[in-house]
Amino acid sequence: MEERKKKRKRYGGGSHGNRSSLDGSDDEQMHLPNPMVGFNLPGYRRPSVMRMLPQQAIGPPFFYYENVARTPRGVWETISRFLYDIEPEFVDSMHLSAAARKRGYIHNLPIENRSPLLPLPPKTIFEAFPHYKKWWPSWDPRRQLNCLQTTVASAKTTERIQCLLARSSNPPPPSVQKYVIDECRKWNLVWVGKNKVAPLEPNEVEYLLGFPRDHTRGVGKTERYKSLGNSFHVDTVAYHLSVLRDMFPNGVSVLSLFTGIGGGEVALHRLGIHMRAVVSVEIGEANRRILRGWWDQTQTGTLIEVADVKSLTPDIIASYVGRFGGFDLVIGGSPCNNLAGSNRHHRDGLEGEQSSLFYHYFRILDVVKSAMARM
Ligand code: SAH
Repeated sequence: MEERKKKRKRYGGGSHGNRSSLDGSDDEQMHLPNPMVGFNLPGYRRPSVMRMLPQQAIGPPFFYYENVARTPRGVWETISRFLYDIEPEFVDSMHLSAAARKRGYIHNLPIENRSPLLPLPPKTIFEAFPHYKKWWPSWDPRRQLNCLQTTVASAKTTERIQCLLARSSNPPPPSVQKYVIDECRKWNLVWVGKNKVAPLEPNEVEYLLGFPRDHTRGVGKTERYKSLGNSFHVDTVAYHLSVLRDMFPNGVSVLSLFTGIGGGEVALHRLGIHMRAVVSVEIGEANRRILRGWWDQTQTGTLIEVADVKSLTPDIIASYVGRFGGFDLVIGGSPCNNLAGSNRHHRDGLEGEQSSLFYHYFRILDVVKSAMARM
């Protein structure tokens, strides 16, 4: 009990901690704070959060690391231990968007004087998509969506719901209601016609995650859902990164690891922070194409694309540090496939084939730090 209390305190949980409503019954999971608003969020403030960063955590460079909040026990402790003992900031983006997204962030950015992107995004389904009101049954109580995932419901799932409702009374009996709502919650289905549910379209997911419309257009639909499901929530990340704007009026040079579709880059752009240079490391070809397409349309700085974090040797990293006069920001969220709910292939935690890529984030950051210390 004492141990649990200590840990909860350390990881930002407070007197609000209510594990049963947060963690389900899975005892291998960790305890998460409630409400999950990090050190602060627009409209929510944890009372007088002050943090003292450990000496070795202080930049340059600034760094920002992200992963899913809900991991097997011990994972965040390990990540934190490698990242200079900084306490993770756990945020559920449901406080800043119409969809939930529970993520942990470890960074050495200041936490005072943050500012959100304006306008604030809609926080309910109907604010985001008013036209769905038309067919929304009164017995579906959802006002927010669950976490946007990498896969969507099959046509079989939505057809089964439609048939079931067609055969039921109106309103349907409680057992049918429960089944339908459980499926709707699980798959984030929305009402698009009489008795008819459907998954969100990729451009709706882009919108909910803070990306420009058609950001991921040009690659297959399955690929779009997958990349979006893995991406940052732009407004949340932008809120944390907003402190960089006044610090770097001439722009930033960024080392972007596991770039995906560029949630970090889009956040910086929407904040009006110029990117002088981005070295982006992303293994997925479709993702690299998406980032390049967006970059060429919106940016004037230099973009260098590298495929694999494993290929970044100390010499190569040092040469980028020399060429760009150091990095102002090292940003990235490593794959969560061995950690997270529906993405979880095997519950092998941080040592899983994908998740262990975290160690490359640490390794590369450490090389950048040493190289910059010698500058
Ligand atoms: N934050 C990103 C998404 C991160 S998901 C965004 O906003 O979109 C993790 C990403 O790491 C995925 O896009 C995956 O393709 C990439 N990845 C996996 N293995 C990698 C490797 N060895 N080197 C570089 N990137 C890798």
